[in-house]
Amino acid sequence: MEGDTIFRAARTLNRALAGRTVTRFDSVFSRLTRIDEDERIPGRTIERVDARGKHLLIWFSGDLVLRTHMRMHGSWHIYRPGERWQRPRADMRIVIGTSDYEAVAFSVPVAELTSARELERAEPMRVLGADILAEQFDAAEVVRRIEAMRDVEIGDALLDQSAVAGIGNIFKSESLFAARVNPFTRVGELSRADMARIVDAARRLMRASAIQRPAGASVYGRAGRPCRRCGTIISRRKQGEHARITYWCARCQAVSPKPGSGGGGQTHGRAE
Ligand SMILES: [Zn+2]
Repeated sequence: MEGDTIFRAARTLNRALAGRTVTRFDSVFSRLTRIDEDERIPGRTIERVDARGKHLLIWFSGDLVLRTHMRMHGSWHIYRPGERWQRPRADMRIVIGTSDYEAVAFSVPVAELTSARELERAEPMRVLGADILAEQFDAAEVVRRIEAMRDVEIGDALLDQSAVAGIGNIFKSESLFAARVNPFTRVGELSRADMARIVDAARRLMRASAIQRPAGASVYGRAGRPCRRCGTIISRRKQGEHARITYWCARCQAVSPKPGSGGGGQTHGRAE
């Protein structure tokens, strides 16, 4: 799940729920229902719904925040009361009802209710890097945090949420293709300008996807098909300790030596 998907989900939930009073709260997570028993979520107003990195935050009046993380298979749906759910009841994790809509979280593996202060103080929020989709974005700080991971391959470093929050597998591949950088290059072999170009591409592509609509992929999911730019067959390989799949064009994203590192390796060929 990528930050742009969470961003769109948060926006949809915010439109349906912000300013409404909660009429019903239900969850299969006992740690949530226990807090609801003490703190009574029904009767509170939903102030807003927003996203930070891959975390979706629902803010209730009276300093209570519901943080959920979708991981791979979780999702939030919005229904009119009485409307038939599109996922089985057994997948339901959380229901937040209002007079006009009910929001249902399906298969969401991570959920906690907390105060704003605790949310900021605890992991994972405390260690979260800058949100790639945020209005205010400190690209130089993100580059510094990525730079610190010298021995990590750039395709893996982009997924580290403590360096930059919100990039997932799809936009990792897409932004490296856009920046013409090989995903298996170690961070220490990249120049600061390379990294700035990659971060810029990720932000540009993800904001376009979050604010407008998902664009067609250039490389992601296209293994075995021709590169849209040069016609070379797109490659696919597992990368990093979590074996996340990476897609790239071996020609457009040839390994290029850092300027001044004495050559070697393949040239940065550009074939039309
Ligand atoms: Zn290519």
